[in-house]
Amino acid sequence: MDMRQLPEHKFSKINNYTPVLDIKEKPVRSFFKPSRIRKKEMSFSSVPEREAVKHFTKLSEKNYHIDKGMYPLGSCTMKYNTKVAEDIANLRGLSNLHPQMPEKEIQGTLKIMFELGEFLKEISGMEAITLQAEAGSHGELTGLLIIKAYFDLKKENRKIVLIPDTAHGTNPASSIRAGFKTKEIKSNRDGILDPANLEKVINDQVAALMITNPNTLGIFEYNIMEIAEILHHHGALLYMDGANLNALLGISKAGDFGVDLIHFNLHKTFATPHGGGGPGSGPLAVKKYLSEFLPVPTIEFDGKKYKLNWKLKHSIGKISSFFGAFSVLVKAYTYIRILSADGLRTASEQATINSNYLLTHLKENYDIPYEKSCMHEFVISASRFKKSGIRALDIAKSLLDMGIHAPTIYFPLIVPEAMMIEPTETESKESLDDFINAMRKIAKQAEENPNSLQNSPRNTPVGRLDEVKANRELNVKW
Ligand SMILES: *Cc1c(COP(=O)(O)O)cnc(C)c1O
Repeated sequence: MDMRQLPEHKFSKINNYTPVLDIKEKPVRSFFKPSRIRKKEMSFSSVPEREAVKHFTKLSEKNYHIDKGMYPLGSCTMKYNTKVAEDIANLRGLSNLHPQMPEKEIQGTLKIMFELGEFLKEISGMEAITLQAEAGSHGELTGLLIIKAYFDLKKENRKIVLIPDTAHGTNPASSIRAGFKTKEIKSNRDGILDPANLEKVINDQVAALMITNPNTLGIFEYNIMEIAEILHHHGALLYMDGANLNALLGISKAGDFGVDLIHFNLHKTFATPHGGGGPGSGPLAVKKYLSEFLPVPTIEFDGKKYKLNWKLKHSIGKISSFFGAFSVLVKAYTYIRILSADGLRTASEQATINSNYLLTHLKENYDIPYEKSCMHEFVISASRFKKSGIRALDIAKSLLDMGIHAPTIYFPLIVPEAMMIEPTETESKESLDDFINAMRKIAKQAEENPNSLQNSPRNTPVGRLDEVKANRELNVKW
C-alpha cells in the first residue's frame, strides 16, 4: 500500500497538551543591542542523540578501568571502589548544595566533614586537620607552605627539604613550588633510610624530611622513630607522604612514630576512583603545635553546633575554593563508616597478604632487588631479560594483550627495569592467580621467544606508541 494514501491523523489529544503562546511573540534579537548580535550565524555541527550515544559507548569500551579488571599500578592504590559510596555522594541533599549556604543550614554537611576529619586524625594519630587540598600533591604543597610559615615565624632561615631516593616525583616538585631547595638522601641496601645517612646531611638549614611510609619499594621504614628524633633534635620537621596508607590502617599511626605533618590521598585509600584526572582529595593533618597555621576555615564543633573557624592566628590562607572536593569527602566518610575500625584494619592486612602472595609466586621468574617480605606493594626487576632484548616496558605492554593493566614501571628510579606491583585488597585469589600466570607466561616467552613480545600490545585499540617521540615532540593539538 502506498503510505501517502493513508488518512492524516490530527492527534487532537496530544495537541491539547501543547501549550498555546498567550503573549505577543517577539523575536529574540529584539531584546539585545544590535552591536551584541552576531553578523554571521554560528555553524554548529549537529549529531543525532543516537549517534552521539553510540560514539561515546564505543569509546568507553576502548578504555581500561578498575571495574573491568585488575589494575596493579604500584604506588597508586587502584582499588575497586564500592558503588554505595557513589550513591551516597549523589544524594540530592548533598550534590545540590550551594557552597555559600549559611552555616546554620548546612549543619549536616559540616558534621560529615568534621567527623571525617576526626576519623582521619584518629587513623593517623594527628591532632588537627584541613580537608581543603584537592590532591596528594596539593596536600604536600599545603604542608610545605605551613612548614615555611612556621620557620618564618620563628625567624629561622631553613631552605632545604631532604627527600629519599625512593620518593615520588611530587615530593621534590612541591618543595620547589613552596620555595625550598631539595637534597636527596640515599636509601641503604635494605631499601630504607639509614639514620647514619641522615646524620651526615642534617644541619640547621634543613626545614624538613619528606618520607613515604611504607616507601615506594613497599618496605616499612622501620628506623622512622630514630629518624624523627634526629630531625627534631636539629629543629627540623618530619613530613609523611601518606599515599601508601593502605598498608597501615588500624595497624600503626604516623603521629606515634614522630610525624609532624601527613597528607592522605582519599582517592587512593578511601574509595574514590581515580585516574584520568578525576577529582581527588588530599587532606593534611598536623600536630597540635602547627594547628594555627592550617588553611582557613577549619570546621569546629562546640558540642551543639558545627562552625567555620576563620580566625587561625598564623593561617597560610585559603588553598582551595570553598571546602575542596566535597563529593570525595563524602565518599571517604561513607567508606570509613561502612568498614568501621575493624574493617579498615582488615583491608590493610588483606592488601598486604595479597601483595606478599604475588611476590612469593613471582620470585622464581623475576629478580627481587630487596630480599624482604613486603607491605601492600613490591618492586621486581626485569633485568634478567635484558640479554634477550626484553625490557620492563615489553613485559608491561604484553600484559595489556592479556587483558590486565600494566604495573608502574621504571619507578622507583633506584631499581633498574623496575616493575612496581600493588594488587590491593579488592582482588580475589582467582584474579591474583591470573596475574601470576600471565607474568609467568611472559617470562617464559621472554626467554624462549623474545621477538613475540617486542611489538606488543597487539590487541588493544592503540598499538605500541613511540614514547620518545611523544615526549620530545609533544603535540597536544587534536
Ligand atoms: C600518588 C602519589 C603522590 C601524589 O598524589 P596525587 O594525589 O596524585 O597528587 C605522592 N606520593 C606518592 C607516593 C604517591 O603514590
